[in-house]
Amino acid sequence: MKKKEVRFGPAGIGGVKQAPKNLEQYNKQGIKAAEIPFTYQVWMNNSQAKEIGKIAKRFDIMLSIHAPYYINLASDDKAKIEASKKRILNCCEKGHYLNAKYVVFHAAFYGKHSHEQCYEIVKKQIMEMQQVIKKKNWKIQLAPETTGKASQFGSLDELLRLVKEIKCYFCIDFAHMLAREQHIDYKEVFEKIKKFPHVHAHFSGIEYTSKGERRHIITSESKLKELLGWIKRYNLSITIINESPKPLQDSIKGKKVWESL
Ligand SMILES: [Zn+2]
Repeated sequence: MKKKEVRFGPAGIGGVKQAPKNLEQYNKQGIKAAEIPFTYQVWMNNSQAKEIGKIAKRFDIMLSIHAPYYINLASDDKAKIEASKKRILNCCEKGHYLNAKYVVFHAAFYGKHSHEQCYEIVKKQIMEMQQVIKKKNWKIQLAPETTGKASQFGSLDELLRLVKEIKCYFCIDFAHMLAREQHIDYKEVFEKIKKFPHVHAHFSGIEYTSKGERRHIITSESKLKELLGWIKRYNLSITIINESPKPLQDSIKGKKVWESL
């Protein structure tokens, strides 16, 4: 990957049938990333993944995957942990054929665990998945995401500790961080992520309460300006996936704001 690049892209490529046309369209609009939402289920087979991966490569569109929401690596029910890992690994297999770089997922809920206990459980489960990925020779990285609710595992510090200790990757959702903590200190955040050669991020407008994330909304130009200003100041290489109700329009908006800075 080239240095210091900023890619914008939507969550979504349409279905299997529409994906080739949509990717062609994205390329025409300067959209160089897309995250495939397997958020409710994995909806393509390996040969379809290979085909879509080829097209994305032709247009230099960086693909990533969002794994299903039904995941809890720290569940009290062992069967649920195994089912969660199976879902993530299924995404990894598709991701391998898609030539995608990351499988993004919300790792766990703290439940009755302390944050430290939950961390250790999640760490163990991710390590087990890493072993499978290695054995299968899949070229894909696991990227737990910063989550939008205080009840969910996934503060930036927890994720960066995983990155350090077990060399998985991470996805930083700036909107989730804002919703989780009720504020975001960009300087503090950028000091923590500036060392990474390329950062995989999500950014969209967000509505939240004291409990955290409520829903994603249209991304405002002023919020985009604020974030992109920091990216410019830190000369960060980054992919920014938009998950708003209009993810393509908001990605194009982001690109325009970026080019105006
Ligand atoms: Zn997510």
